[in-house]
Amino acid sequence: MTSRPVIDDLSNFWMPFTANRQFKAAPRLLESAKGMYYRSTDGREILDACAGLWCVNAGHCRDEIVAAVQQQLATLDFAPTFQMGHPLAFEAASKVAEIMPEGLDRIFFTNSGSESVDTALKIALAYHRARGEAQRTRLIGRERGYHGVGFGGISVGGISPNRKTFSGSLLGNVDHLPHTHDLEHNAYSKGQPAWGAHLADELERIVTLHDASTIAAVIVEPVAGSTGVLIPPQGYLQKLREICTKHGILLIFDEVITGFGRLGKATASEYFGVTPDLITMAKAINNAAIPMGAVAAHRNVHDTVVNSGAPGAIELFHGYTYSAHPAATAAAIATLDLYRKEALFERAHGLAPAFEAAAHALRGAPHVKDVRNLGLVAGIELESRDGAPGARAYEAFVKCFEAGVLVRYTGDILAFSPPLIVDEEQIGRIFGTVKDVLASVK
Ligand code: PMP
Repeated sequence: MTSRPVIDDLSNFWMPFTANRQFKAAPRLLESAKGMYYRSTDGREILDACAGLWCVNAGHCRDEIVAAVQQQLATLDFAPTFQMGHPLAFEAASKVAEIMPEGLDRIFFTNSGSESVDTALKIALAYHRARGEAQRTRLIGRERGYHGVGFGGISVGGISPNRKTFSGSLLGNVDHLPHTHDLEHNAYSKGQPAWGAHLADELERIVTLHDASTIAAVIVEPVAGSTGVLIPPQGYLQKLREICTKHGILLIFDEVITGFGRLGKATASEYFGVTPDLITMAKAINNAAIPMGAVAAHRNVHDTVVNSGAPGAIELFHGYTYSAHPAATAAAIATLDLYRKEALFERAHGLAPAFEAAAHALRGAPHVKDVRNLGLVAGIELESRDGAPGARAYEAFVKCFEAGVLVRYTGDILAFSPPLIVDEEQIGRIFGTVKDVLASVK
């Protein structure tokens, strides 16, 4: 492989979710990857404790996926899926449907998690309209929820910095459940915290306030990832399901992070034994090889919408040029085959106890005030430095990177979600590095 010239002008790329001026003064650039490792442009190996951005669940640059994409691009680079199709789109949908919970077997393809969220919200509105309940338009999200960056996603999302600049233009008719994070009761919980199921009862309060007949859907991440790995209390998701069912409200699980083995099962829905009406996904659906997302809809939801229009009329005025892009679907098929062939979800399940033990070994390390985990995802919350929230976790992130481990930070929380091919020795190295680094963090 010929190497590219060194980039010395970083000004043109306006980087997403980045402190551009700070980053460009001291950039971190990755140039290749294989398996569990990135290689940086300064020639260092970086152990990937985040699966990129919660997405490369099968490990980097897997031969089977690379070959499938290469071959697909040389065979059929693009085909529309509006009033047309190509076989891989249907095959990929069948493969995704196979591992979804019973009934959620109608798959709408998108190109990202944000698009999946907006698609699911629109499907919920279309469903109620098709049933003659067009007045059901209210959407319920949750504080500290992250649902991407579309206007729908930031409206139901509960992260103030993501909303503030756009606050005058958010969707109306949105309410939020309280988040479930409570260190007073649940610090250092292993797996699901025992305290907090009653927080789901807030949904009853919201329903009473607005009347069920106005509410279309509730959307939550089963495990909130981006705001610092918030694990649902025992019984909480079951309660949300019961309340939604009682009032005819659709329940949407945003599984953009939890889908495809993160908790040791194909979905968090399967892990928790709670079946929503719609599941949003992206990221690990095709190991992040090509941008792709999807919504799995219960067939009742699908059939209600699809059977509602006149024969020959388009039923849902929604879709993307790249819905089911051939290369993305080829990558998805190869990825799902790899997950099965290598039993990677089961592997994640088997590694979870060692991962939990290694994460909780940081209890008592400098600045640590909570450790939480489930499956192969963990969060370590640090005490904020006086007057500079987030600065301590940022410093830890930079120092870990310099020490050869990629972790993620959000606020003052370090997040861990390694590829499912990680081994115990690498798990030890990840948390051992963090421990060493925290000793030197101010
Ligand atoms: N939903 C959740 C739960 C996510 O974690 C993310 C991304 N981290 C998104 C939606 C948005 O996905 P994307 O960045 O692909 O738009």
